[in-house]
Amino acid sequence: MDKLIETIDLTKIYGEKETAVTALNSINTTFNQNQFTAIMGPSGSGKSTLLNMIGLLDKPTQGKVLVDGFDTSNLTDNEISAFRNEKLGFVFQFSNLLADLTVLENVLLPSQIQLDSPTNDKAKEVLEKVGLSDQLFKRANKISGGQAQRAAIARGLVNNPTVVLADEPTGNLDSVTAKNIVELMKRMARDLGQTFIV
Ligand code: ADP
Ligand code: MG
Repeated sequence: MDKLIETIDLTKIYGEKETAVTALNSINTTFNQNQFTAIMGPSGSGKSTLLNMIGLLDKPTQGKVLVDGFDTSNLTDNEISAFRNEKLGFVFQFSNLLADLTVLENVLLPSQIQLDSPTNDKAKEVLEKVGLSDQLFKRANKISGGQAQRAAIARGLVNNPTVVLADEPTGNLDSVTAKNIVELMKRMARDLGQTFIV
């Protein structure tokens, strides 16, 4: 199995002196390509912090993140944005869909930040993969929580990311719906080779 992401001595300390909190303490780990990987641990154990470092949403206090062997620690802010748009897809606990837009419009949003905008066809293709082909023109506030998370996953996939990072994507769903969403991501990893870190 090929490693896609590697953390080297990754350390994150929030705050300073007596209020300092060490959220990550010299983490050395790897995440494999084409796999569904779940990071598990109690609340406050540093899961979100680790995902934020991998997603280049925040900078480590020490150590670094390699993506495909590429050291991301010396990128400028502009390069980080470009790297994130090109390589990373994000899914959050709350779907963060824009209520007044349709499902299809929501999925098209991140692609419009890219210069080589994917088309309606690409958005429809990823919506089909998550089983929402029949909901394209529904407003986002008219679909269920599970459907909204499927749409959020489709939105995370629309730019063909190397890896999708999902922070508690099922945290706001009932257990049956949550299980279906996890199965969906595992199936995409197995059948389509899409890498997920959850
Ligand atoms: P998890 O996602 O596993 O619940 P987090 O990564 O959110 O854990 O938090 C890890 C630790 O870092 C916790 O002790 C939390 O209180 C602290 N922490 C997280 N974000 C911040 C922040 N922005 N400022 C200060 N402390 C933080
Ligand atoms: Mg968290």
